[in-house]
Amino acid sequence: MRPPSVDKLARSLAHTGLPHPLLVEIARESIASGSVETVAERAEVNAASRSRALLQPVINATGTLLHTNLGRAPWPSSTQAAFSNLEFDLATGQRGSRQRHVGTLFAQLCETEAAIIVNNCAAAVTLVTAALASGRDVAVSRGELVEIGGGFRVPEVIEQSGARLHEVGTTNRTRAADFERAVASSDVDVAMAMLVHQSNYKIVGFTQSVRPADLADLGVPVVCDIGSGLLDAACPWLAGGPPVWLVDEPAAKQTLAAGADLVCFSGDKLLGGPQAGIIAGRADLVAACAAHPLARAFRPGGLVLQSMQALAFSYLERDGDAIPFWRMAARNVTDLRTRATSYQVGEVVDMSSVPGGGTLPTVEIPSAGVALDGDLTSALRSHQPPIIARVNDDRTFVDLRTVDPTDDPTLRSALQSAVAP
Ligand SMILES: *Cc1c(COP(=O)(O)O)cnc(C)c1O
Repeated sequence: MRPPSVDKLARSLAHTGLPHPLLVEIARESIASGSVETVAERAEVNAASRSRALLQPVINATGTLLHTNLGRAPWPSSTQAAFSNLEFDLATGQRGSRQRHVGTLFAQLCETEAAIIVNNCAAAVTLVTAALASGRDVAVSRGELVEIGGGFRVPEVIEQSGARLHEVGTTNRTRAADFERAVASSDVDVAMAMLVHQSNYKIVGFTQSVRPADLADLGVPVVCDIGSGLLDAACPWLAGGPPVWLVDEPAAKQTLAAGADLVCFSGDKLLGGPQAGIIAGRADLVAACAAHPLARAFRPGGLVLQSMQALAFSYLERDGDAIPFWRMAARNVTDLRTRATSYQVGEVVDMSSVPGGGTLPTVEIPSAGVALDGDLTSALRSHQPPIIARVNDDRTFVDLRTVDPTDDPTLRSALQSAVAP
């Protein structure tokens, strides 16, 4: 038996949707790596594994609402090809600012003077520190020298910005007086105070921390990195008001109202949008950030800004249902149980979803889903589209809170095939 031609084998893999040059590569490797008899099967396996390594939509059945590995907040992508007035002022016909359209909307939502959008919250904090404190000291509580996943460490970010970290207080207790002493000291040159939300951990017991209102008279800008991106603690976009699991999560609007000069937060955590970072607050400080050379490196593209504008509209309309993250967060457990029952596979179980994304580390949200015997996670991952589930004690758990109801038929038939011998 002669090996098939590379081209013929590549063309037989066209159904995978991979571009032809990749299929040619796969065909070559498959021919070279074993017997002629099984080359067709090998090529299929290689093409499938190549497809799985590419970026694609997945069904998140983990119950982790903001799953860092699955892109945090779900957000639709737009495919329409079009120019936009990204940096064009339609009123004057002159070059405009890409920050003005959307920045203004977020300033309004935060009830503050100004806002700009950058690539993520890490970029926001880096830019603020570079613009306001380069060559000078940044006062931060020893209890807030946070590391967020993915290598974001507050001390290193400050150092990278060309500023010096000046630690105040202790690990468990920091008071306003600690900040005041640093500002008054002739040994340090405090340019700003930074309060960092302990997003992914908690210090409990004999503790005390400083709130923005405590630093109102500090005399230097107070910058709050709230990370999570909750816009307004009152959640006016949810018919039922703030869910109980939000507990004491800091919100941008209230943090600014309490006296913070700037807040930094993520676009794709509790804000529920695409990956982005927002800097909002005093107009002169936001302008200093926008004018800093790093702002050019951290600026988002038009696709992100369009998404952020759509998100801002939903918040202005108080339409939480239009925001995929809040839609899934607000699903009631009874509906989830009804959906789980309709699957008619496995056992309907009550579960606990978690917010995830390095937010609200101790919070659980009541949920429901399906439990199946055995570890089916690998089989489910190889499904098209891939399904990501959890396994515990040799049982597979599918949490329906994070699954869009439009995916129910797909998920249901995938589970039924996975349990069939
Ligand atoms: C998540 C988080 C960040 C990093 O945000 P990204 O948008 O992922 O860059 C920074 N600070 C705090 C407090 C956070 O919770």
